[in-house]
Amino acid sequence: MLFGYPIAATNDNWLHECLCEVNRSIHDTVDAGRCYPGWPAILPVAHRERLSARTGFRDRLANYDRTVRRFSKANRARILEAVTDQNRLSDLLIGRCNCARLAELPKIVHKPVKELFDFAFDRLTDLGVRDSHYIGIYETTQDHVCPFCGVEYMDAPGAPREALDHYLAKSIYPFAAANLRILVPMGNKCNSRYKLTTDIIWRDDGTRRPAIDPYSHFRVQVLLDDSEPFHGESEYTPKWAICFVPDTPALATWDEVFKVRERYCRDHLNPSFPSWLGIFGSWVRSARLEIDSDVEIVDALRRYEECLAACGMQDRAFLKAAVFRMLRRHCEAGDQRLLSQIKNLVAHSGIS
Ligand SMILES: [Zn+2]
Repeated sequence: MLFGYPIAATNDNWLHECLCEVNRSIHDTVDAGRCYPGWPAILPVAHRERLSARTGFRDRLANYDRTVRRFSKANRARILEAVTDQNRLSDLLIGRCNCARLAELPKIVHKPVKELFDFAFDRLTDLGVRDSHYIGIYETTQDHVCPFCGVEYMDAPGAPREALDHYLAKSIYPFAAANLRILVPMGNKCNSRYKLTTDIIWRDDGTRRPAIDPYSHFRVQVLLDDSEPFHGESEYTPKWAICFVPDTPALATWDEVFKVRERYCRDHLNPSFPSWLGIFGSWVRSARLEIDSDVEIVDALRRYEECLAACGMQDRAFLKAAVFRMLRRHCEAGDQRLLSQIKNLVAHSGIS
């Protein structure tokens, strides 16, 4: 993930918090041997008026109550513990704790839990929470691009809604299904071709992995410095080496799940490199820069790189800046073949 979302966008998390409170209240009632309080008395007073007409909650909560009453106290405790643990998001993502996944809980509780929490997630749209969450993110992020790839543009609020990813898949961690802290707007490619319902904190082989917290994350720089200028996919395409700075185990998970390096090479760097070089050549000519000496070539590359770096994430400028930084560094190191190629490029508007 190239940058994080503002935590303030998750402040309107009342539906999830209400549901967790109701859940604890049901468990307390059952443990105390008391009867189910009924509808809408089961709702916390603060939310009773707003939700009392939502009878879908009434039926699903009553069903959940009937189901947990069939369990022993120990099994009920396991379920309640999963409710808490599946929502310890910072700790789960960093790998500081684990939680029971739905498949590890008694099978009989799966359907009532999924029906209740999926229903709650769907209500985030009706209740306006989903839109205010998206507006909060859109308006406070500088570049309206998908932070998971940096290349997909996110539409403005009011357009058909962008994908809202359950960062912890709701089929596995249903108790967090309506928790805004794991709900992340995501470009459609990242969401529907790469992330899908992948378990972000467990690999398929059963090993644990740390993951980026989307609401507590720093900006990541993409560097291509270790690439070789020639002999990549073709004679004149660099052999790319993509680094993320700072490089952390959580960023490795991001790359594993979203196939970031693979996508950058296949879909952007290889096909676009010739045209990016051509545009650089046009820029040098239009700016009437002299590039007769090695020093002048390096200087032109540096100025172009700085210009791209100032464009932030717009139109893949972060990748272009990394490309010209890499070329500049190789030229500084005296790569005569590259220096000659760039000189010819500017002179003849093509690669020689
Ligand atoms: Zn994306």
